[in-house]
Amino acid sequence: MNERDQLVQALTPTVMVPRFEAFEPLDRPGHRFLVVADGLWLEVRRSWLYARQRIARQEAVAMPYGVLAPAITFLCPPIPAAIVQKFSALARRECPREAAGWVVWNENTGVFVFREVEAITASAGHIRYHRPMLEAGEHLVMDWHSHGSGRAFFSGTDNRDDRGEVKVSGVLGCCDQERVDMVIRLCLLGTFIRLNARVSGDRIVFDEAVEDAKGANPWNTSFIPAC
Ligand SMILES: [Zn+2]
Repeated sequence: MNERDQLVQALTPTVMVPRFEAFEPLDRPGHRFLVVADGLWLEVRRSWLYARQRIARQEAVAMPYGVLAPAITFLCPPIPAAIVQKFSALARRECPREAAGWVVWNENTGVFVFREVEAITASAGHIRYHRPMLEAGEHLVMDWHSHGSGRAFFSGTDNRDDRGEVKVSGVLGCCDQERVDMVIRLCLLGTFIRLNARVSGDRIVFDEAVEDAKGANPWNTSFIPAC
C-alpha cells in the first residue's frame, strides 16, 4: 500500500467489533470507524470526551460482528454555571448583535475558563470571529454563540461551522427577554446529538439526549456521569 493510505488508515482505522470477546474502546485521542452487527459506527475520543454512536444502520446483510451500546462519557468535570452566566451576560450586552465565546478546559489544572472571542464582524444575523489560541493542555469543550433577539436554533450556517469539530455547541436566543432561549448539542465530526442541560449545584450537566423527532431514535444515548 502507498504511504499516504498507510498513514490515513493508521490514524483513522476501521475496526471490526468482535462478537465473542469484549470490545476495547479507543484509549487515546482520535477517532475510528467501527463495523458493528447493525451498521457503521463512529467512535471519538478527546481528553475530555469519549463517545460512540451509530452513523449508518445496516441490517439487510447479516454481518458477523458484535453489538455495541451508544455512549457519551464526559471525561472532564461538569462546566461551572458561572461560566454560562458570563456568556449569557455578554450575549445580553451585545444584543441585538450576535455574540460568541468559548468554554476552555485545561486538562493539566482541571480548570475551566471562559474565552471571549475577537469578533471580525457581528450583526443581528451573523458573527465571524478569530478562533482563540489554545495553550498546551487546553481544549475547546463548549462553543457558545447567540442569536440576539431571535430564537435559539441551529442554522444551516451553524451546521457548516460545526461540521468538522468535536465540541459541545450552544446557542442562546431571545437575549432581550427576561428568559433566554437555549439549545445545546454535541458535535461529533458532522453528526449532532441534541442535549438537555440542567443545573446541578454550581455546575451545568448534560446527561440526557433529546429524542429524535422522527422516532428513528438514532440518539438513544447512554450517559456515564462525569468524573
Ligand atoms: Zn447560529
